[in-house]
Amino acid sequence: MLKLIDVQTHYGKIQALRDINIEIHQGEIITLIGANGAGKSTTLMTTCGIVPPSSGDILFNGKSIVHMNPNRIVAMGISQVPEGRHIFPYLSVKENLDMGAFLRDDTDQIRKDMNYVFEIFPILAERQHQQGGTLSGGEQQMLAISRALMAKPKLLLLDEPSLGLAPIIVRQIFDIIKKINQENNTTIFLVEQNANLALKVADRGYVMENGRITMTDSAGNLLANDDVRKAYLGI
Ligand code: ATP
Repeated sequence: MLKLIDVQTHYGKIQALRDINIEIHQGEIITLIGANGAGKSTTLMTTCGIVPPSSGDILFNGKSIVHMNPNRIVAMGISQVPEGRHIFPYLSVKENLDMGAFLRDDTDQIRKDMNYVFEIFPILAERQHQQGGTLSGGEQQMLAISRALMAKPKLLLLDEPSLGLAPIIVRQIFDIIKKINQENNTTIFLVEQNANLALKVADRGYVMENGRITMTDSAGNLLANDDVRKAYLGI
């Protein structure tokens, strides 16, 4: 479904990504783990067109999306939940969700999708008229995921969904990520510093260090790998 081929990304003279090759198949949950500053967020932002690569190619269902306008990339079926949520604080929960569907005109299906997100996150239904900025951190993360779902993505990019949240909320959110994957066959590309959690929910994983992919394997094998355990699981 998604293929990054020899991707390099620069911020001015700083090279953030080097020779990145990642392949994601339909229906998978793939995680990208690595330390602070390894290049994980840049990989997602390069995929969804916000920070275009300086060379290499990105194929989505066989079609190159490099240098495509991010709006078009969303319309093709890739949505991102950015690190730090970035919901619209002065809009209500419902208006935030409407914004997620702004490229769509299938009104009946949009209503059904909103009912679906209210079903998986009932707290958002209760708070639908409340301003987004007044929600708790966990509720804002639920809203950010739901807003991305309102674009009806085939591929959902999640950047650090656990960041700053209490463990009980994190578990709830990860259960829902798995549910979204299983119920809708939504493919998920998950960037996480909480490697233990990410590898437990993912099918396969990639390890990133200093802008390069240094390892890739099934999530089970990475969880059992001594180097990964020492570097990322604190074991
Ligand atoms: P974190 O988990 O802390 O978000 P990360 O693995 O997602 O880290 P990136 O945010 O992708 O890492 O950063 C990769 C490298 O690119 C880092 O060296 C970072 O300082 C640099 N970088 C990121 N954004 C910019 C920017 N807008 N301008 C210049 N350099 C940047």
